Amino acid sequence: MAPSAAQLALPIYASREAVLQAVRENQIVVVEAPTGSGKTTQLPQMLMDAGLAGERIIGVTQPRRVAAVTVARRVAEERNCRLGGEVGYAIRFDEQASSSTRIKYMTDGTLLRESLEDTRLSAYSIIILDEAHERSLNTDLLFGILKRLTTHKHRRKSLKLLITSATLEATKVSQYFGSCPVQSVSGRQYDVSVSHSLENHDNDYYQAAIDTAMQVHLNEAPGDILMFLTGQGEIMKAVKQLNNAVSSLPADADCDALLVMPLYAAMPPDMQARVFAPCPEGCRRLIVATNVAETSITVDGIVYVIDPGRVKQKSYSPQTGLDALSVVPISRVQAVQRAGRAGRTRPGKCFRLYTQHYFDHNMPNITVPEIQRTSLLSACLYLKSLSSDIDVISFDYLDPPQPEALEDALRQLFILDAIDSDGKVTPLGKEMARLPLDPCLARMLIAAANLSCLPEALTVAAMLSAESIFSENRGPEQIARMDVEQLGHASGITANGQQVLKQLMEDGPGDHVFLLRLYKAWQEAECSSNWCQAAGLNMRGMRFARDVEGQLEAAIESSRSTFFDRALQDGTIGRSKKRRRTGQNPELELRQAVLIGFASRLARRMLTHNGYKTLGERSILAQLHPVTARIAPDEDGLLPEWVVYHELLATSKNLLRKVCPVDATWVNYITPKITNADVSRLRGRHQLQHQQPGLTVAPMSSTDVEPSHAAAAQR
Ligand code: ADP
Ligand code: MG
Repeated sequence: MAPSAAQLALPIYASREAVLQAVRENQIVVVEAPTGSGKTTQLPQMLMDAGLAGERIIGVTQPRRVAAVTVARRVAEERNCRLGGEVGYAIRFDEQASSSTRIKYMTDGTLLRESLEDTRLSAYSIIILDEAHERSLNTDLLFGILKRLTTHKHRRKSLKLLITSATLEATKVSQYFGSCPVQSVSGRQYDVSVSHSLENHDNDYYQAAIDTAMQVHLNEAPGDILMFLTGQGEIMKAVKQLNNAVSSLPADADCDALLVMPLYAAMPPDMQARVFAPCPEGCRRLIVATNVAETSITVDGIVYVIDPGRVKQKSYSPQTGLDALSVVPISRVQAVQRAGRAGRTRPGKCFRLYTQHYFDHNMPNITVPEIQRTSLLSACLYLKSLSSDIDVISFDYLDPPQPEALEDALRQLFILDAIDSDGKVTPLGKEMARLPLDPCLARMLIAAANLSCLPEALTVAAMLSAESIFSENRGPEQIARMDVEQLGHASGITANGQQVLKQLMEDGPGDHVFLLRLYKAWQEAECSSNWCQAAGLNMRGMRFARDVEGQLEAAIESSRSTFFDRALQDGTIGRSKKRRRTGQNPELELRQAVLIGFASRLARRMLTHNGYKTLGERSILAQLHPVTARIAPDEDGLLPEWVVYHELLATSKNLLRKVCPVDATWVNYITPKITNADVSRLRGRHQLQHQQPGLTVAPMSSTDVEPSHAAAAQR
């Protein structure tokens, strides 16, 4: 299909022949081009139209879900085809692709999962690892996997691999891939004049950004503004504040109207689409965005960039299991990227809210790749399931992860029965890797199938997979206790809705059982949106959960895995489902399944107060997160002795998030596994360099365990 004039004007077309030739002559090519050149939207089309893809698919990976979807939409439009036809996308829990799909945008995680089913990725003729400079964990894993697949003795000679990026350490990547050629495409970049502020704004960068935006709007020539902030909460606050500031300008102010628009990953797709619509006459747009606008999404028409120099980043401590989501300084590479966004259509200006000295001397050079700052639990399980000859310790990583992070992952996998004591993946581990869930939730489902509470566990896994069940990230207890009068009618929350939440939490069931009850109550209310509003719930989140539940059920049914035999045979789930209850007490069984799934995340209450101590390699004192659904204290006001949690968050305090109370008798069955996790053996043939630190819980005698629970918990 012939590209339009607008497409042909994109920089990548100027290098079309060179790129095509490089791809024809080489199996692996690195393509380096500035953002907005057309790497993501045009390159796959160019390759296909030149006949390089043959009959198979061109797969294009993106680190972000939002980018995969918006870009697929755009390209389908450009080719005048239906989304899911010639051009499609696949992200977790959402796929628009068919047998006629030739260009498939997907998240890097989706391609990883596909490679478990088809290790040779035989559906694809070309794979483009896009946005490689982001160095997401999954893209880094794909580097290693695809290097194996293209250089291994049984390699796929016909598979072409392109690595594309805006600002990659191209030489390093090329060397990693056997010194493959690097094709550089020069962008059409106009001058951007960069000004630095005279002081650093450590704690007040937000206000400085707002003030700068208003100054630009009032004093600078027409042209859209892109302002970077760190997250949804901050962005929505800024949008409100900026709208107020604009409406309190004097009526005769000499400036255009200002259209303030948010842009962040979790935003509903129809709202995202708005930023691509042309700006109305006599109007200036101000786009307030997270890092997604740094390279993954290009908005045309930006002339001014406001860069506070911050980004929200996750980091994980393998020693303590603490997860932190903190606002950290961006790297110099990122600062240059952000400034570049101002000069795409004409000369622009970038306002950096930090000093020149800070930029020159204190800013980190590059961003630490995710593989070096995140939990490797699913990465290790994935690598081990992919092939028995992959050794996660000596695997050929572009940048190796910390040894402690690998050991932490091995230890957790052992506790979850995903690997045996020699570090070999078990059949159960393989099944866990196949499910589109994190390993703990996958383990929970498998346990649930044996405990006859799979339908309940599916609901809970789905509810936990939806990003926002409660509006504005509140917890159910918080909503139940709010002053309805004060909230006002607009909130939609009613006294009746609050009463429903209170009743569902009355006996203090903790998050998982509460989510189960909530979902059932919503279904009994015929999935009504009024009901959702009244209880402070997010209808979109609830619908998403319902969808996910269906997809998980279908995935289990079609896998025909023996781990789910029992549930499939007794008709608890599946097409022939009668929803016949085989379990005695589904909520209790569900909590047992949660314990088995989250056995590596146990915490024990302190003797005399309600603080908890985790059972990690190094234990940590933590408290329940304020958004936890009510957990009932005993007569002395003490919370349950044992809980499992999903996340251990480092904020001003350490907080346990998504918490399930579990019985001490069941825990006795888990603790021996914890104490037996011998990391030196789990590392396989590699010798441990340092001693395993002492554990915090002495093994308990198994004679304390009630037989029925014990048997169940053991399975
Ligand atoms: P790169 O991947 O090199 O950063 P892209 O292929 O994403 O570049 O973008 C090329 C051009 O296509 C840019 O001008 C961008 O604004 C435009 N574009 C990309 N996505 C959309 C969209 N959803 N709607 C409108 N224009 C888009
Ligand atoms: Mg791109």
